[in-house]
Amino acid sequence: MHSIHFKNVLLWLFLFVAGLGLPAQHCSEVYDTALFQRTVNFIKSNLQLKVRDNFYMQWKPHDSDSMYYYLYVSKPDTIQTALDGNRVFYYFTSADTAAIQEQFYRESGMHTLLYKTAGTSGAELNCKLVGYPAEAIVFILLHEATHQHIRGSETKINYAFEEAMCDAVAVVAGRKYLRKAHPSLRKAFRLQTMVLEGVYKHSNNYIDGYATFNSGLKIRLEKALKTVEKNGNAFMKDRMLYPVNNAYLRRISDYSVHYFRMKKLLGGKGDFSNKLHQAIELSKIK
Ligand SMILES: [Zn+2]
Repeated sequence: MHSIHFKNVLLWLFLFVAGLGLPAQHCSEVYDTALFQRTVNFIKSNLQLKVRDNFYMQWKPHDSDSMYYYLYVSKPDTIQTALDGNRVFYYFTSADTAAIQEQFYRESGMHTLLYKTAGTSGAELNCKLVGYPAEAIVFILLHEATHQHIRGSETKINYAFEEAMCDAVAVVAGRKYLRKAHPSLRKAFRLQTMVLEGVYKHSNNYIDGYATFNSGLKIRLEKALKTVEKNGNAFMKDRMLYPVNNAYLRRISDYSVHYFRMKKLLGGKGDFSNKLHQAIELSKIK
């Protein structure tokens, strides 16, 4: 009798703590509070990005495995989504449900990619995210802040421009931020950028040459992925390391195709907010 009561008390205590959104015990010691606070400050004060008040301030409730799952499905003979209504991906919070759906499409002859991420513009803290190296955390926060800024503005922009812009802001503004705030992270951030851009460059070449079935371009992309395996941090591996097929290319094209142009628009001299505003205006859906 007593033990049942005791279990109930424990259960209620757990629910209470989970409801408050306190860090899960198993990762609170790797949570670098100062890094998060300084980066969020930079995003709000220096870059003037409009993010929600609770931007990376709260813990994701029920932190089971901290990941989100995106299922991309492409036709096997062309880089094009095979989902209903031209939808680009399905989104899951359960790995099992996602895997069952993936199997269904795979068995019907489609190319699939089950992409997992700890990011997303929900912008909540979770164990996977806080366990990433600092250069990855800076990248993710800048990327998600750009999403919130764009989505909070009046301007509607094309999704592929948006993702490319978020990555370009992360790279350009991240470099600037680290120069002053965390110089010791600059080298790791540079390597992360190199790994990312290597994959984007070779993905773009392969997507461009896809119609001609240029197997050399595919081999070069796979080599770039070997570099991720060798030199990439845990975040880059989670983001990039999947078998190359049409679903992989469908996903990555949303990030890579406009990335280098966005980086050029946002880089160089001049006020960052103005340049970002300009990039958003140029990407407007007409
Ligand atoms: Zn994004």
